[in-house]
Amino acid sequence: MPSLIRSFPVPHYLPHSHNGMPGTIVDLDTNKSRRSTSNRDSGHFSIRSYKSTKSSKSSQESISPVSGSLHVQIESPPVVCYGTPTDSSGALLSGMLWLTVAPWEVEFETLEMTFQSVVTTKKPVVIGCQDCTTKTTDLHTWEFITSSHSVSHGLHSYPFSYLVPGATPATSDSQLATIKYFLQARGVTVHGEILQFNQEIKVSRSILEGNDRNSLRIFPPTNLSATLTLPSVIHRGGNFPVEMRLEGVVAKTNQTRWKLRKATWRIEEKAKVISPACKLHAHKIGGEGKGVQYEDIKVLATEEYKSGWKSDFDTADGKVEFGFTAGIPAYVTSTDDVDNAAGLTVSHNLVVELIVAEEYCPRNSKLVTPTGSARVLRMQFHMNTTARAGMGISWEDECPPRYDDVPVSPPTYQTLVCDSPSVEDFPGI
Ligand SMILES: [Zn+2]
Repeated sequence: MPSLIRSFPVPHYLPHSHNGMPGTIVDLDTNKSRRSTSNRDSGHFSIRSYKSTKSSKSSQESISPVSGSLHVQIESPPVVCYGTPTDSSGALLSGMLWLTVAPWEVEFETLEMTFQSVVTTKKPVVIGCQDCTTKTTDLHTWEFITSSHSVSHGLHSYPFSYLVPGATPATSDSQLATIKYFLQARGVTVHGEILQFNQEIKVSRSILEGNDRNSLRIFPPTNLSATLTLPSVIHRGGNFPVEMRLEGVVAKTNQTRWKLRKATWRIEEKAKVISPACKLHAHKIGGEGKGVQYEDIKVLATEEYKSGWKSDFDTADGKVEFGFTAGIPAYVTSTDDVDNAAGLTVSHNLVVELIVAEEYCPRNSKLVTPTGSARVLRMQFHMNTTARAGMGISWEDECPPRYDDVPVSPPTYQTLVCDSPSVEDFPGI
């Protein structure tokens, strides 16, 4: 008897494309080893659902009356890691966790707070799956109450401090993924009531401006060479000057010269994300320890010039000098540089294109005729794009007191020894 149940072939999984570019399946293991070397103080990685913890909280709170609340007060300056991920000494995060207890006394089972990073991909392996979309990493955990402990009515403070490692990727929101940081406090009473508080902490990176850099590009088989003077660091929402010098434009032997016809520049933002699959969906991309890599390039700003340069054909090789202003406008949605090997990577390039046309100019004649030959000279420069330095003071240079440094009790009054006679010793009083 033929079976009524027919088996359908499982379609081969294809990662959905972005801007017409399909994702490629990559091994996460190679990135894992890279991460462990670059991230000095990285915590353990855990993939878990953000939604599931939230829903358990609301169900618990609905059955028991609220016996208190939690609140975080940040006392340190904004978290800015100065310098490159390898050089930065990190940034201090310190403050106070306030616990308000409403009844006369509440017995707490645990009270802890976690500083965590949440990487959310906008290209998950399975759309709608929370575990495929969000990766939460606990960077540091403070355990304030670890066993049953009675807390009396009133306001209680728990100081905390943490040195955010210098390699920590900055808070980012790109076209492919977001990186965010949270302080998540959680207290559990012996009756199972859960108090929670969640606050986002913005982490940024700032590389201090150094000397301008000179970059040389050559264009064989011609004798043309271009030298560009560029700033070491650029900022979003700001302009920067570019000085360009094109040399070797005159070829005396052939009685020809290159004339600059058009110059264009553009700033590209290149984003790359590796979307890991959760345990449930790992089989779709060939097992655990793999992820799908997506890349996207976005042009943030561009400009075209047809004049404005100075040509000098009288020197031995001849030269063209051109200065222009480039920049990323403030109204364009863009992200600072970020390098999170296991997640999101964003970098910026300045692309300069010059169109030069060859002209024939005989020595004793003023008649110049185009030879019909033209070239596109294309140059690409990596630009460090970071947050502005602001005051530019690292925690090492101006260190706020850490709670370890504060003594247990306030200093006592000094006994003042007074040699002057007492009022009672004066005659007549
Ligand atoms: Zn999944």
